[in-house]
Amino acid sequence: MAARKLLLLPGDGIGPEAMAEVKKLIAAMNAEFGSGFETEEGLVGGSAYDAHGKAISEQDMARAMAADAVLFGAVGGPKWAGVPYEVRPEAGLLRLRKDMELFANLRPAICYPALAESSSLKRELVEGLDVLIVRELTGGVYFGEPKEITDLGNGQKRAVDTQVYDTFEIERISGAAFELARTRRNKVCSMEKNNVMKSGVLWKEVVTAVHKAKYPDVELTHMLADAGGMQLVRQPKQFDVIVTDNLFGDLLSDVAAMLTGSLGMLPSASLGSPDPKTGTRKALYEPVHGSAPDIAGKGIANPIAMIASFAMCLRYSFNMIAEADRLEGAIAAILDDGYRTADIMSDGMKEIGTSAMGDAILEKFLTASK
Ligand code: NAD
Repeated sequence: MAARKLLLLPGDGIGPEAMAEVKKLIAAMNAEFGSGFETEEGLVGGSAYDAHGKAISEQDMARAMAADAVLFGAVGGPKWAGVPYEVRPEAGLLRLRKDMELFANLRPAICYPALAESSSLKRELVEGLDVLIVRELTGGVYFGEPKEITDLGNGQKRAVDTQVYDTFEIERISGAAFELARTRRNKVCSMEKNNVMKSGVLWKEVVTAVHKAKYPDVELTHMLADAGGMQLVRQPKQFDVIVTDNLFGDLLSDVAAMLTGSLGMLPSASLGSPDPKTGTRKALYEPVHGSAPDIAGKGIANPIAMIASFAMCLRYSFNMIAEADRLEGAIAAILDDGYRTADIMSDGMKEIGTSAMGDAILEKFLTASK
């Protein structure tokens, strides 16, 4: 079996604390099942700035490009608030996304039954929720030109952002969404605003054509993005995969995420195009949360978002579906047993720290694997 090459970039704040729990899982999988993970570790964000004066070194960029997958913790913190803009901690993540051409951002919103009470919606609306938002990550209004503020000279200024999409960008993101749907409940809902935006008209046209040409077995529906936002809080379980552009995806994925409770629970994946020869994709997996400087170093961070990001890595980069299912099952089982980190603590539950949570999930995972 070929080695599975992982680059670990723990980053700053709680990033290294959460990553330590994934390292335990990797070591155990190698020892118990001969999973063949080979890991390298690099610096990103503030820690890279302190060491190299850059948010990621060229050597670590080269390692990221050569790895089968990158596991990323979190970056940033008050210590680096004053560093120059080009080398601020977030620049490391943006560089990785850009150079690895990670155009598809996957944000699952899964509601663990044990945490259904902590959602802002009623239990029956969210219990068992499993939605995957596929957001286009490298195009659209965040990158389109012109992007400027001009002085009109009469005491007024004008700000312009440009929403722009080419056919190939919509083809590749919708293709990714249809492929993912086939591994789930086989349904895709595409969201745009073709009633008021030309980019929405093209989006709908291209998604429809891709569906007809290559994925007629998948159920496709279309929804205006504003109605989609409404439906996500009204009846979220109607959705399987939602595919949408960069801006709407940014908003809708945060809405969907909050249906499920705490930031400390939310994983994500960013994927590139499949290599024409090997079929493998460049990929980066990271928790949605940041470096949480307010709790860093206290041993109380919730490692579940980071561990669930590793489960996504097993699923999407290594096709280790059974292992990913078991790891996600272990997270659910530990929550069912009443274990909680401080951020998700509630009455009658047992509060534990980062390392104890990681150990408990690892033990459940190993037991379920035997
Ligand atoms: P944050 O996600 O770091 O924290 C927001 C709140 O949620 C904090 O109270 C924090 O303690 C809590 N929290 C977050 N993750 C948690 C976890 N795993 N367990 C328990 N509690 C958790 O967002 P912020 O405070 O707005 O940003 C802090 C720093 O992180 C900033 O420098 C910001 O730029 C950076 N940031 C980085 C990323 C990233 O690396 N991808 C994402 C968002 C923010």
